Amino acid sequence: MGKPTGFQEFDRELPSKRPVADRVKNYNEFVGQYSAEKLNEQSARCMNCGIPFCHNGCPLGNVIPEFNDAVYRKKWDEAYQILSSTNNFPEFTGRICPAPCESACVLGINKPPVAIEEIEKHIIEIAWEKGMVRPTAPILKTGKKVAVVGSGPAGLAAAAQLNKAGHSVTVYERDDHAGGLLRYGIPDFKLEKWVVERRVKLMEEDGITFKYNTEVGKDIAADELVRSHDAVVMAGGSTIPRNLPIPGREFKGIHFAMDFLKQQNKRVANIAFEMEEIIATGKDVVVIGGGDTGSDCVGTSNRQGAASIRQFEVMVQPPASRTAAMPWPTYPMVLKVTSSHEEGCERHFGVNTKEFLGDEQGNLRALKVTDVSWETDVLGRPIKFSEVEGSEREIPCQRVFLAMGFVNPQYTGMLESLGVELDERKNVKATEKAYRTNVSKVFAAGDMRRGQSLVVWAISEGRECARKVDEFLMGHTNLESKDAVN
Ligand code: FAD
Repeated sequence: MGKPTGFQEFDRELPSKRPVADRVKNYNEFVGQYSAEKLNEQSARCMNCGIPFCHNGCPLGNVIPEFNDAVYRKKWDEAYQILSSTNNFPEFTGRICPAPCESACVLGINKPPVAIEEIEKHIIEIAWEKGMVRPTAPILKTGKKVAVVGSGPAGLAAAAQLNKAGHSVTVYERDDHAGGLLRYGIPDFKLEKWVVERRVKLMEEDGITFKYNTEVGKDIAADELVRSHDAVVMAGGSTIPRNLPIPGREFKGIHFAMDFLKQQNKRVANIAFEMEEIIATGKDVVVIGGGDTGSDCVGTSNRQGAASIRQFEVMVQPPASRTAAMPWPTYPMVLKVTSSHEEGCERHFGVNTKEFLGDEQGNLRALKVTDVSWETDVLGRPIKFSEVEGSEREIPCQRVFLAMGFVNPQYTGMLESLGVELDERKNVKATEKAYRTNVSKVFAAGDMRRGQSLVVWAISEGRECARKVDEFLMGHTNLESKDAVN
């Protein structure tokens, strides 16, 4: 432990952000860096707990007190080795993870938790800067061929681990670039795309092949892919958005969030797209849905110069995650306040949209909404809502972004042609212990198996799935398991 009294001496501090007025002028990241002294102080706040709850809070089992200690001692190589032993892509999680490790940090019981996510980002960026992140192509090849479908964080993590085990890995991606939602969902102001490209380039140098503009089940037959490989990992994400099929859904100006966000990511990268332009400039915008996707629509609408932005969420505002009655570590709440909300947005909780209203040209002109109240179960969990009488009103708007989550993976194409069995939620059926589907040689990981989730879970699933594939191919595996760390 670096400094036993650090948690008493130093308060939690985060790097400064560029002021709102400045950052909304472009799509660049806006979170600064710690000075060397601040980084040292922040790592010193770690108490090196006897039972480090942060290990279990992190789906990757990151070994947090150990890397905090190495940072405190300025042992960058050691810090990088510890961090990269459990996380293939700390530069992604260090920027965009909701940091369940921080919600689990014991210091958080009576003080703000250790700034684990920022420390993680600093370790990996220092490692890149100092040339520690180098290609590590495996020395021994197994002669086995593995196909990974999808290059989101789950597919990338599975590919990296399987390549490390000596298998020949090809990643098939239907988009024109790798990264999945890291590339074409999450805006640049949260994650600039050179960060993804830098990692993908390294993976290519490691010997992994990427095939773009190749949709498995369309451009290449899925059974052909299975026949020509020793194993297949499906990591195609959960891509079917939840719709709002209420009267007026057909009016012009109502869009799925992903169509809006993907276009803007392409625009920033100067990549052409064929669909009709979706622009919020000068419009009154309503974002329906209170999660990460909704908040990214808010940030993007602000940068495009929307006239006004409201965000509606049918759930009521949750309590702070730790209250006097419930002081123990918890997972972060979904309806959090993000940097995009700081940039300007009216948030409304407990609001239900009943109808879209249009003008004679078929353009959206307003929403008909009501307030709702929730009936809860004995544990206080919301189970059913009812409208608050007399609260119905019209909200003028010309753009609506539907950000109500994703219901399941796309079944037509790859899954259908292989006859992949689904679970009761219509995700790919494969247990978290085995990651194997009902189809011989075919495994599944990430949102496609788990349902819509987080980048950190996708990386965790990709790594654990790779272990199962390696075991299947070789009879045993030497790839790291998060269970061995904790
Ligand atoms: P994806 O990232 O969805 O990648 C799947 C890939 O598979 C895609 O590239 C797709 O094109 C490809 N594919 C699908 N089918 C085929 C096929 N048949 N052939 C070839 N390729 C195929 N999580 C966080 O932790 N923090 C955040 O801040 C955050 N923000 C988010 C913002 C938005 C707008 C969205 C939508 C999600 C966000 N998430 C966030 C969630 C996170 O991005 C996902 O949980 C994560 O990306 C899932 O990873 P995945 O690899 O399983 O799937």
